[in-house]
Amino acid sequence: MTATLEPPVAAAPMMIPRASVAPRDPFPEPIGTGELAIEVRDFSFWYGATRALHDVSLTVPRRAVTALIGPSGCGKSTFLRSINRMNDLIPGTRTEGELIVEGESVYGSEIDLVAHRQRVGMVFQRPNPFPKSIYDNVAYGPQLNALCPRRDLPDLVEQCLRRAALWDEVRDRLDSPATGLSGGQQQRLCIARALGNRPTVLLMDEPCSALDPIATQKVEELIFELKRDYTIVIVTHNMQQAARVSDTTGFFDRGGVLVELGETNQIFTNPKHERTEAYITGRFG
Ligand code: ADP
Repeated sequence: MTATLEPPVAAAPMMIPRASVAPRDPFPEPIGTGELAIEVRDFSFWYGATRALHDVSLTVPRRAVTALIGPSGCGKSTFLRSINRMNDLIPGTRTEGELIVEGESVYGSEIDLVAHRQRVGMVFQRPNPFPKSIYDNVAYGPQLNALCPRRDLPDLVEQCLRRAALWDEVRDRLDSPATGLSGGQQQRLCIARALGNRPTVLLMDEPCSALDPIATQKVEELIFELKRDYTIVIVTHNMQQAARVSDTTGFFDRGGVLVELGETNQIFTNPKHERTEAYITGRFG
């Protein structure tokens, strides 16, 4: 079976300059271990009587980007939100099966949800900085959670902003309101804010859908850089983006079924399933 899509363009080499003098890194060692960051077995999810995920099984390799694609309403966001239990806020939901992050059963009785949500950062479609200064957006979480001594906060903020490729643009106005930044800068600030909680996994729900092409490119370059240290799961409706940024791609179909998961190049050039081929060649969506 041969798809008619052009082969994906290989992810561009990193173009964000690293500043020559970096502060002491408060996060010298990534804390996750093992090859897999996430393991999911026969995971199902219901909103009341509506089953949004149907026996999903997959693994997410560490320090790599996994993209989730599929038609609208097929459960991609539900799956992403299940990873950090954001759906808990919705009444009448329930799950079956197993979802393990960093060796811990996310829906098990022993999970420490506060610690879990620190390990698993989330970035949303629309940048949502706090109505605070640029500095406070990043410092707030670690300060609240006592993740680092107060005297180390400036180093931590700088490190997170550098990792989010924003430092050089904001270093002279850290006290300015975050809402004064451009949309792309706000999104990178939200990524810096997520990094402040010392996650090992970053979840991104269509993080570029509200951005212009240049801001999108910067975020894509950032994702490419961040996978050196973090495990990233990204939901995107943009197949070119999935092809550019991800190492592994999962195709979800209607009914919340994971049809196919594989190496990104294989999914886009030689999908195993007819439905995957139909989707990536634009025959439905
Ligand atoms: P996708 O991200 O692939 O567009 P979603 O995960 O948002 O899909 O939705 C999957 C299914 O779950 C859809 O049928 C959607 O209508 C339903 N759904 C999503 N959120 C809710 C909710 N809060 N309450 C009830 N049903 C929901």
